Amino acid sequence: MPIYFRDKYLPPIWQKLQLGERLSLEDGLILFKTNDLISLGKMAHYVQQQKSGDAVYFVLNQKIEHTNVCVLSCKFCDFAKKKGEPDAYEMTTDEILSKITPEIKEVHITGGMPHDWRWERYIDIVRSIHNKFPDADVKAYTAVEIDFFHKKFKLPIEEILRQLQAAGLRTMPGGGAEIFTERVRKLLFPQKIGAKGYLEVHKTAHKLGIPTNCTMLYGHIETIEERLIHMVKLREAQDETGGFLSFIPLAFQPGDTGIKPKNQFTSAIDDLKTIAVSRLMLDNIPHIKAYWVMLTEEVASVALNFGADDIDGTVGQERIAHDAGAISPMKLAKDKIIKMISEAGKIPVERDAFYNPLNVYSENVIGKIPYLNSVPFYHNLEKSATGGFKILPVAPRRMGMLSKEGQIDAGLFSLMDYFDQEENLELLDWCIATRDQVKSVMLFSKEGWTGLNGKKIGITDDTATSVHLLKVILEKKYNVRTEFVRLHPGVNDYASFDAVLLIGDDALKYNKVGLNGFELVFDLAKEWYDWQKLPFVFAVWACKNSLSDIRKEKLKDMISAALNKSEDEYGEIGNMQGRQIGLNLSETKEYLEGFNYRLGERERETMSMFRKLVNEINIKV
Ligand code: SF4
Repeated sequence: MPIYFRDKYLPPIWQKLQLGERLSLEDGLILFKTNDLISLGKMAHYVQQQKSGDAVYFVLNQKIEHTNVCVLSCKFCDFAKKKGEPDAYEMTTDEILSKITPEIKEVHITGGMPHDWRWERYIDIVRSIHNKFPDADVKAYTAVEIDFFHKKFKLPIEEILRQLQAAGLRTMPGGGAEIFTERVRKLLFPQKIGAKGYLEVHKTAHKLGIPTNCTMLYGHIETIEERLIHMVKLREAQDETGGFLSFIPLAFQPGDTGIKPKNQFTSAIDDLKTIAVSRLMLDNIPHIKAYWVMLTEEVASVALNFGADDIDGTVGQERIAHDAGAISPMKLAKDKIIKMISEAGKIPVERDAFYNPLNVYSENVIGKIPYLNSVPFYHNLEKSATGGFKILPVAPRRMGMLSKEGQIDAGLFSLMDYFDQEENLELLDWCIATRDQVKSVMLFSKEGWTGLNGKKIGITDDTATSVHLLKVILEKKYNVRTEFVRLHPGVNDYASFDAVLLIGDDALKYNKVGLNGFELVFDLAKEWYDWQKLPFVFAVWACKNSLSDIRKEKLKDMISAALNKSEDEYGEIGNMQGRQIGLNLSETKEYLEGFNYRLGERERETMSMFRKLVNEINIKV
């Protein structure tokens, strides 16, 4: 993508980004200071496309603010009331339940902190929602509220989170981070936890398998350097745990807070810059959210080409932002969100709380397996995807689910999904097959193969084919029976399993650095090759039978041209993604050269043999 820079300080940063190098705080200062807004946006858009292609996510969500009574008095808050004040309210559990409808996929609960609620009341809210609406993910209580519970009910933070998790809590919101410097904390919210407390709560949640979001409140009294310090602290925490799903820059709403004149909102330029810089600085956080309630629809819509890939959702009630003067309407209907995303040239993707795609609202969608091994196809395909095709990164198993519902037109399908949907799909001439070992479909085990008999194996949620390959190897090659348990998306506690099957970039990463507690590592493609003397085929290119002949031809030309162009430069094109999982240039090159990308005779032989073996076993995961 050519960028015509007007700021001479930006090209060195662009160079770093293309090499997958991490930006420094000093780089961040240059980005914030630049007047070359368009180049900044293009760089952020480039990085966002590497992570989420043309997808923009939204969720059908309901925000519940169970009470506005709060013991704290944060200066920027127009929402909180003291008990007995005329506008103070406290919702009962029944009132809360009455606000949720069956189509809601995420219930987002935050509110004030009254002095007289019992611990059981908070637990009861989570449990009641979870029991009545099991399909909705309960995303509840900010780090500030968790810290309040910890102090008030004299329970360790870990215990608080365990009890909420047992009641049905799935994820946590990111509110309460504000700005991570003591200077700002002392001036604006002295009673609130600072960076240390906030990060401790989030890291504890991640350890327990509760993914969270993180935020930054900007546009009040903070300096640009303080914004960057905030981002760097989040980036360091993410390096440790990997549990943040998305970062949400929250534009300060002055309202009657007295901190800034009532109508002095952040400028659109500042909002767009902040979104773009966050995308570029937070290289390890998967998603950046343009929170339309605070940004306005117009700015949020432009932000989708400035690095943001999430627009939040249908929301419901947004009292904190609204009471302080947010000027967006209270509720954007789903259709309106879909229109906003489509008009930005993107694919509207309805998601769950873990960013699993549930529905895709666009035509001509090519599914992309977001792993390093598919880069030789997609690197150039993304650049040449014209004729109305758009690219949606999606894990193999999810791609199969979407395709089954007719929501994906073409893609690199997991072999099992292709078998399953063969009647509706046309097989194309390309695949991902190994020569012998694969390095990215790995069983990390505490036992040797035969020692796994009767043991419990954790299976990554992303896999469709690898789980069948593992079962075939266990039962047909080693005569071993095991129990398979699907891991949930996001962070997981692997220690409770006897072995764990990981695929894609996670497998590559742990293959290099090791997975704590699992001494033995088995490469499933090598196991297959040693047994059958055939390469293993993990995925095949296919498109919908119903696609018109013209579209099919266009697609084939695009795939063929993209692959031909990638040859001889595997290392370079995979370098950015390779670096993010700890591989150097030559390791990336060697890894990608270990695959066969064209479907030949031996690959077709494997497909027949594997189909026969799978039909002989019984698998339920
Ligand atoms: S921001 Fe939250 S903690 Fe602070 S006063 Fe308002 S409701 Fe209470």
